[in-house]
Amino acid sequence: MNNVYVIGAGLAGSEAAYQIAEAGIDVTLIEMKPQVFSAAHQSSNFAELVCSNSLRSNQLENAAGLLKEELRINKSFVIKAADLNQVPAGGALAVDRENFSGYITEHLSAHPKIKIERREVQSLAEFNLTEDYVVIATGPLTSDNLFNDLKQFLGDDDLYFFDAVAPTIEAESINYNRVFAASRYGKGEAAYLNCPFNMEEYEVFHHELINAKTAIVKDFDSLKLFRGCMPIESIAKQGRETMLYGPLKPVGLIDPKTGEQPYAVVQLRQDNQAATLFNLVGFQSRLTFSEQKRVFRLIPGLENAIFERFGVMHRNSFINSPKHLSLGYQHRTNPHLFFAGQITGVEGYVESIGSGFVAAKCLIAYYLKTGQQQLPLYLHPETMLGGMAHYVSRANPQHFQPMNANFGLVPPIDNLQMNQLKQKYQFIAKGRQGRRQLYALRALSYYRNIEKDIELFNEEERF
Ligand SMILES: Cc1cc2nc3c(=O)[nH]c(=O)nc-3n(C[C@H](O)[C@H](O)[C@H](O)COP(=O)(O)OP(=O)(O)OC[C@H]3O[C@@H](n4cnc5c(N)ncnc54)[C@H](O)[C@@H]3O)c2cc1C
Repeated sequence: MNNVYVIGAGLAGSEAAYQIAEAGIDVTLIEMKPQVFSAAHQSSNFAELVCSNSLRSNQLENAAGLLKEELRINKSFVIKAADLNQVPAGGALAVDRENFSGYITEHLSAHPKIKIERREVQSLAEFNLTEDYVVIATGPLTSDNLFNDLKQFLGDDDLYFFDAVAPTIEAESINYNRVFAASRYGKGEAAYLNCPFNMEEYEVFHHELINAKTAIVKDFDSLKLFRGCMPIESIAKQGRETMLYGPLKPVGLIDPKTGEQPYAVVQLRQDNQAATLFNLVGFQSRLTFSEQKRVFRLIPGLENAIFERFGVMHRNSFINSPKHLSLGYQHRTNPHLFFAGQITGVEGYVESIGSGFVAAKCLIAYYLKTGQQQLPLYLHPETMLGGMAHYVSRANPQHFQPMNANFGLVPPIDNLQMNQLKQKYQFIAKGRQGRRQLYALRALSYYRNIEKDIELFNEEERF
């Protein structure tokens, strides 16, 4: 008898359990609440939103909006719950959190194919992974017992406890008249974009950085961080010069415009294969998002930077997915084991729901041995669901970082294709917004006739 278990009834686990049950497969959903609560969870209900009640934008030209629309088309249970329990929030999808989780708890508990167990799973050894199928969806605050067990299972270096993330910016927003491409000491290819400071610019930047407002991060001050994980503002506070021997070290870099070594340099590293995103090397930060935007735009070349994601430092359990998971969130060497949600390195409510959906669909195909002769649409790299699954399984494991949905995860549309589409669809907006609309139309065209979406774009209130 092959039993199917989903561990964790959060956003990902709730979606996964429902999809598996709807495929006619009996599934046991195991949730540790109310016996054990993480530091952020408070309610006994499933799919608890631990912070904001917003599932972000509903607009198609926003990556989170597109992701939600793909989930709606695919009959996502959790997105349906959100739509049914929404509260007014302009262009965003915000929900009444109590009603939202209440709806999900009620429907999962009443489902004839779902059995609920309220207990903490402490070890994978509780399951027979040659027979049973297990989806681990225990989230960024996975209980300590299971976390330690997973560490043994995956290897110490492949399960991260703390997230120290540097901001990511759009390549198009970089001022290429200021930055220069080079690697330190000219070694290898010119892999980095370098933002050169003169002394006056550095002094202004340093002053603003040490005086900027930081966000409160629970338990942060009691943590001993490796030096390589220290927030940039903490390094700056150690002294005026300290950053010059750390992330802003200029040695071995010559600005071709001046022929000289700049006073200080911030390096930008390519963040995705399409080179549409770059991250600020060593710039993990606890500054509030608005302060990051203000202060990091003082870096020469980043005056108009558009941030795809800001730097964060918080408790976040996630695995080195590219090393351990194949496309479809399935463990590479144990095909009965799946991971879903934030623990896979997707970041955000909707992203967690999306990965729960895809992991469940892949488990169902494997369990029923229907196989997947053709790549399912939700794994196609040009869709947002697929783009995320590709990122999680194929990013560079050496620099793997959690990621929100964004258009940098899907292959770029080349200029020729862009112009052809613009001619065909005259309504497409100009510039960045227009490009995002095209990405959205391309993704949705996999699922349905996009003429419907053209109507949506034409509705003025969508902008
Ligand atoms: C403090 C905090 C605030 C956040 N705020 C936002 C935000 O505002 N917007 C946003 O988009 N994202 C936010 N996130 C990120 C993330 O999107 C959410 O954490 C999201 O809920 C992740 O979904 P999930 O299903 O992976 O995990 P969760 O929703 O956390 O669900 C995991 C479930 O597993 C259970 N569980 C854990 N361990 C065990 C175990 N051993 N046995 C049985 N059950 C277990 C937990 O009790 C929980 O119910 C936040 C994260 C944190 C930590």
